[in-house]
Amino acid sequence: MIDPFGRRISYLRVSVTDRCDFRCVYCMAEDMQFLPKRDLLTLEELDRLSSAFVAKGVRKLRLTGGEPLVRKNIMYLIRSLSRHLDSGALEELTLTTNGSQLKRFAGELADYGVKRLNVSLDTLDADKFKAITRWGDLARVMEGIRAAQAAGIHVKLNAVALKGFNDAEIPSMMEWAHGEGMDLTLIETMPMGEIDEDRTDRYLPLSQVKRDLAERYTLTDLAFRTGGPARYVEVAETGGRLGFITPMTHNFCESCNRVRVTCTGTLYMCLGQEDAADLRTPLRASEGDEALARAIDDAIARKPKGHDFIIDRATRKPAVGRHMSVTGG
Ligand code: SAM
Ligand code: SF4
Repeated sequence: MIDPFGRRISYLRVSVTDRCDFRCVYCMAEDMQFLPKRDLLTLEELDRLSSAFVAKGVRKLRLTGGEPLVRKNIMYLIRSLSRHLDSGALEELTLTTNGSQLKRFAGELADYGVKRLNVSLDTLDADKFKAITRWGDLARVMEGIRAAQAAGIHVKLNAVALKGFNDAEIPSMMEWAHGEGMDLTLIETMPMGEIDEDRTDRYLPLSQVKRDLAERYTLTDLAFRTGGPARYVEVAETGGRLGFITPMTHNFCESCNRVRVTCTGTLYMCLGQEDAADLRTPLRASEGDEALARAIDDAIARKPKGHDFIIDRATRKPAVGRHMSVTGG
């Protein structure tokens, strides 16, 4: 799959549910309306859809959500998808998770070939953790991280940088993560979906965070990439890596190799654009995958050059109406 700008699409992110056991304030409103269950693709359909992309050259598959590990029977899907790792068609099968269910599932994930996980963690302070996730329990996430590491899975932490919330804590989080053998990646807040608070107040440009860190630490830019949009530095004092995902201050679209499918089979060619393709109809229209393959090709041919994220201080409206939990971040 090559898009109109010559970018090879080799990375698919699949949001397996829009539901979650947390309500992070920058991601969701507290009384979120979720999709009716009947609109969801079944696990078999998610498997067929993902496998169609693998047949078209996707080498890296990431399950996300909502919280992927709260989808009922999710291990059935992961076990089934692991056949593409066994065959060599897929290089990597991975997940982005809030870690709440990891203690229970870490062993099975490792058994099914999951070697790396991204765990989202915005603070190491239990009270602040409760405040930012509304419903989360830090101790449980920590147990989950430890269980994953004990199962031999390499954990990377993702933290959304939030002004007045965790900016002062970034150095200590980084030192802790690096001390535990984990990379840490910082993410800027993106204006996606209506939430209960005003994102403009929380927006913290990572260019500023990086400048502040450079006063305390020796940062060296690295060429290292994980296939994602993060740019990494090495921190001499900790020996660890720190990543920056900067959709707002830096346009990372030139090297975009990914597309996203929602749990209803809607394909988004760009996280920051509304254009989408319905893959559920061709998926359900026939048992064969020809119509599905055609619909995927048509959609890739429309992949836009990039996003138009701006945090609009005048209207205070999100740039994209859907929540991150729909397209999966
Ligand atoms: N529930 C899982 C988790 O939290 O890791 C997976 C889905 S979550 C939507 C994926 C990532 O998106 C998380 O790291 C989360 O912090 C991030 N995220 C959610 N809303 C965001 C926003 N508006 N701007 C930037 N990142 C956001
Ligand atoms: Fe749930 Fe992840 Fe969104 Fe937090 S960021 S509410 S854990 S989907």
